[in-house]
Amino acid sequence: MTGVQSESGVLAGDERMLIDGELQQTAGGVMFDVVHPATEQVAGQATDGTVSDMTRAVGAARRAFDTTHWSRDTEFRHHCLVQLADALEAQKERLRRILVTEVGCPISVTGSQIDEPINELRHWAEHGRTFPYEIDNGVHETPLGPARRKIFYEPAGVVGAITPWNVPFYLNIAETMPALMAGNTVVLKPAQLTPWSGSELGRIVAEETDIPPGVFNVVLSNANEVGAALSADPRVDMITFTGSTTTGRAILGAAAPTVKKTLLELGGKSAHIVLDDADLSSALPLAAMMACVMSGQSCILSSRILLPRSRYDEGVDILKASMQGFPIGDPWTPGIMQGPQISATQRAKVLGLIASGVDSGARVVTGGGVPANLPVGYYVQPTLLVDVDPNSPVAQEEIFGPVLAVTAYDSEDEAIGIANNSIYGLSGEVSSGDVDRAVAVARRMRTGNVTINGKSHFGIGSPFGGIKQSGLGRRNGEEGFKEYLESKTVGMPV
Ligand code: ADP
Repeated sequence: MTGVQSESGVLAGDERMLIDGELQQTAGGVMFDVVHPATEQVAGQATDGTVSDMTRAVGAARRAFDTTHWSRDTEFRHHCLVQLADALEAQKERLRRILVTEVGCPISVTGSQIDEPINELRHWAEHGRTFPYEIDNGVHETPLGPARRKIFYEPAGVVGAITPWNVPFYLNIAETMPALMAGNTVVLKPAQLTPWSGSELGRIVAEETDIPPGVFNVVLSNANEVGAALSADPRVDMITFTGSTTTGRAILGAAAPTVKKTLLELGGKSAHIVLDDADLSSALPLAAMMACVMSGQSCILSSRILLPRSRYDEGVDILKASMQGFPIGDPWTPGIMQGPQISATQRAKVLGLIASGVDSGARVVTGGGVPANLPVGYYVQPTLLVDVDPNSPVAQEEIFGPVLAVTAYDSEDEAIGIANNSIYGLSGEVSSGDVDRAVAVARRMRTGNVTINGKSHFGIGSPFGGIKQSGLGRRNGEEGFKEYLESKTVGMPV
């Protein structure tokens, strides 16, 4: 098979952004190209918005927040978000093709990237409708006599949402819909490589819903400075961001002068501790699959596998067989589970980290390069690196590729020490025949979330986020909705 598509469904998305209710191009009509990663061909274009466009969008969001009833009318917001969910549902096959075109992810694995986020939008619409925005905090004694206190939960204000390219439709929804339902107004800045998942959302909001002008804006741009302008704008109350830790630091810095609230979901280098009593035949094929599906371009991936020395060779053999058999190829072909990396730059970064692992003493057991039968498209072979030094770059840096780094350990304490030897703390896994033992290990892992025996921690009903340099704040669950609200305590006569 070559990278040239036999049954390609390549489809370009809308080129326009949405500012103050108007679908529009930037002044002067400058465009940037969007490339299909499986063919390396330009699939279409998007308008290349400027700082001036961003400034207008923030102004529109500010005005909509300050002067319309959006922030105070929960029933109207619910109506608009259900309208949006219905419209997205009606157009979801178009959205699916556009997503595969700009990301290169296999069409077979788009359920979690298209269908699930639409369900999540419905969840937020309902959650926000029934949320207790006003609670009685009881009577409190004060030096001036008793006071009744009430707590009101109110929207943060204007929310800037900056999203990455790995799961763009999902993250556009995940970052902006709880914000909208909580009563905020939003400016979304999608990633350069994947503008269309954002522009299509803007188009559908404008064409199919009653969401008022200025409440939801989408600014497309090929320039990082446009996202930076959003983070720095004093009229923005909160920034929500998913992406690399490097960019997260820049956003936090830009937000600091105006003390903006930030919700940051950043990088990860999660460890999977396989205990000596684990069922390797179920744990490790799943670990290999998670590393390859989405081409490893996932922040919650357990990219470090820690195997007990007593079962090291057995574990390596299972991982090797699973990775060698993994279905990689044309993302439009049903059954394919791994497509290309998103860009030549990302592929070069992945190959560079594999090479650095070898330089620091690791062995490539399978993969390690570009598949010979896929010369076109930014493909990387599923790659298993063993005998990895836990301090080497390949064990410390987020790879964002289909690569597992395996290290042996001798004791449970040593395994936990290696797992915690990271600037990141996003996710993690434990496999064991004894769930209580696994939970005890999970509790000692310095990370925001842990999966035990393949039972995922991730989903809309439960808080998700990182510690250390993996981020600030939580998405999903009750915590995830409250992030977009501020509490206001009001004291009053009893
Ligand atoms: P990558 O480097 O892999 O493209 P990033 O985490 O840098 O991923 O990018 C995620 C998002 O952050 C994109 O929408 C990008 O435009 C935006 N971005 C990049 N640099 C900045 C910045 N300095 N300030 C705000 N947003 C930025």
